[in-house]
Amino acid sequence: MPLRTSISDRGAILLGNSVACDAFDETRPLRVVTHAHADHLVGLRRSLKSCEKVLMTKATKDLIEVLKGPRTFNLGTTEQLEYGKSIEYNNEQITLIKANHILGAAQVLVENKKGNRVAYTGDFKNRTKPIEDCDTLVVEATYGIPSFKRSFNLDISELLVSMIEKRLRTGNVYVFGYYGKLQEVMQILRSAHVHVPFVMPERILEVSEVCKRHGMNLGDLTLSSDNNGKELLEKNLPCVAFYHMNKRKSIGIESSRICVSGWEFRLPCKQIGRKEHLVALSDHSDFEELIEYIRRSKPKKVITDNYRVKHGDVLAKEIHKRLGIPARAMPNRNCKQLTSFF
Ligand SMILES: [Zn+2]
Repeated sequence: MPLRTSISDRGAILLGNSVACDAFDETRPLRVVTHAHADHLVGLRRSLKSCEKVLMTKATKDLIEVLKGPRTFNLGTTEQLEYGKSIEYNNEQITLIKANHILGAAQVLVENKKGNRVAYTGDFKNRTKPIEDCDTLVVEATYGIPSFKRSFNLDISELLVSMIEKRLRTGNVYVFGYYGKLQEVMQILRSAHVHVPFVMPERILEVSEVCKRHGMNLGDLTLSSDNNGKELLEKNLPCVAFYHMNKRKSIGIESSRICVSGWEFRLPCKQIGRKEHLVALSDHSDFEELIEYIRRSKPKKVITDNYRVKHGDVLAKEIHKRLGIPARAMPNRNCKQLTSFF
């Protein structure tokens, strides 16, 4: 009998008999957190209170401590798992495998002694090594419809560096994005020898310090509330200011502004305001890259995640059509019989 696999109505990816990934499930003694983005931390407090253990990488734990507060993990027991290392629980082996997404992101593989294998990709972008030959693979579906295909074949990093360098000649540049993506931009700039000060509010600085401790090259960071940071921003001196996307409407209105987002497929860069551009830097695979992962992974069956975005249905149909692999979206809001398919 293959290991059971499904996605609950509340977004928990259930692998085998014991594991729930990325949302709370009262029937499972183990919770895995694949990475520190909010839509993968669903019900974390309840999991900490009621599960035997909550598993994640050290980097993910460090990021969550910054984002959710240092006492978050006092509620329960956690175990840090390195990539490629396994733990045994109730005759099943659980392994975290690196996903190319944000710092600490992992795919999850559950196997039993009979050689049955089920896995969940978590969020991932291209150059993530596929988990091969699973009985059932659960795959993220963020860009799960065929039109979500990037039509440009251009090095976004180079474009981003040249745009920012050009704007630094006349003063500061504000970059808006989500946690993880902002730190990726910092690393891209430092790797391209952009040495101007990086200015940011406290939360983003704390997240960035975690990224530095885990090996990312972000250089020196300046707090926007420090005298030095205030002066750089108020006098429009050359520096890059990093802010969360939700501050876009209220901060740096008169400055040069760049928003980094994967939700653009036609152009690598487009103007969205007077001095504001969107750059299509994504931390998710586009539609073609999702299909390519599954092609290389060669699973017997696929479940697409229809909880975090609503493209799971389309992706499942396309997987079946293009690869001949049985696939369905879960949870299926049109169908009450969620568990009977596989
Ligand atoms: Zn994510």
